[in-house]
Amino acid sequence: MVKDEERGKILDPNGPLPKKRKHIYCMHPNVYEIGECVKCDGRNITWSEYVDYMWCYDCNIDYIPEHFGMFDGPIPMGLSEIMGIKFDRVNLKTGKRYKPDDPEFNTTWP
Ligand SMILES: [Zn+2]
Repeated sequence: MVKDEERGKILDPNGPLPKKRKHIYCMHPNVYEIGECVKCDGRNITWSEYVDYMWCYDCNIDYIPEHFGMFDGPIPMGLSEIMGIKFDRVNLKTGKRYKPDDPEFNTTWP
């Protein structure tokens, strides 16, 4: 989990770059109510290629959100499933999808 002091940070593309993600969740960050862009407060966002970061299409920045929505609290998996929200993780390189009950699921983040 991201440290509190890291939240709201905008990535300096000329600085040292963070680790790259190997996986993303299968749905859009807005579905999980992940924090909006810290620069424009917009939601035209997606998963950044970097661990813990989101990408804003309007600002062209990678940022660490102020909060991670559903991921900050205990995730009501059962209820979420009923609402059609899935927590499958997708390997960016292979495209393989891991359901939460997959024995390999816990090794597939980030
Ligand atoms: Zn923005």
